[in-house]
Amino acid sequence: MLVVEDEPAIRELIAVNLRHAGYAVACAHSAEEAETILNGALPDLVVLDWMLPGQAGDAFARKLRSQPRTRDLSIIFVTARVEERDKLVGLESGADDYLTKPFSPKELTARIKAVLRRRAPQLTDDVVRIGGLELNPATRRVTGDRKPLDLGPTEFRMLHFLMSHPERVYNRTQLLDEVWGDHVFLEERTVDVHIRRLRMALSATGHDELIETVRGTGYRFRRG
Ligand code: CA
Repeated sequence: MLVVEDEPAIRELIAVNLRHAGYAVACAHSAEEAETILNGALPDLVVLDWMLPGQAGDAFARKLRSQPRTRDLSIIFVTARVEERDKLVGLESGADDYLTKPFSPKELTARIKAVLRRRAPQLTDDVVRIGGLELNPATRRVTGDRKPLDLGPTEFRMLHFLMSHPERVYNRTQLLDEVWGDHVFLEERTVDVHIRRLRMALSATGHDELIETVRGTGYRFRRG
């Protein structure tokens, strides 16, 4: 999570609550500082204050949406403004949600969870079930037809991502970005190595068949 807020007390309040909810948090006091942080690594979500010194929050959100690398970032606006017209401008500039100050920390984390559930279901703790295969992010357990399956940490993250996005084809570059993270430089065949290990682990209950190789493109997880 990246928190962009110029008021230290509010920035700290948001950061403390997000850390308490289990998220890794970076903070910036301006859009310019946020940009420097984003150049290093991409967070899953940006909590963005509307009224910032220098570049305003809505202009910054539009900028993020206009660049391929940051286009898909989830953005939640935090603002003191209450007018409905401003809310529309905020959503038009590409925010996923909108929170008006003062808000309770509980409300903020609930909104963040809702946005992540919509945009990045593999980042939530929701149990995923497909065709007898069940993955529980909270306990980090995977079962096939109720039998426990033994997966390494990378295979677990890969399976979580694939099960959260069934029927969609992902190429190796996309899987590297999604499973290993942005700015990680690995060879594409690393993906094949981990897909092979994942299939091996799932083969104990025959669920390896859910992972399809799409020739010339990448991989797809079937819905069953
Ligand atoms: Ca402010």
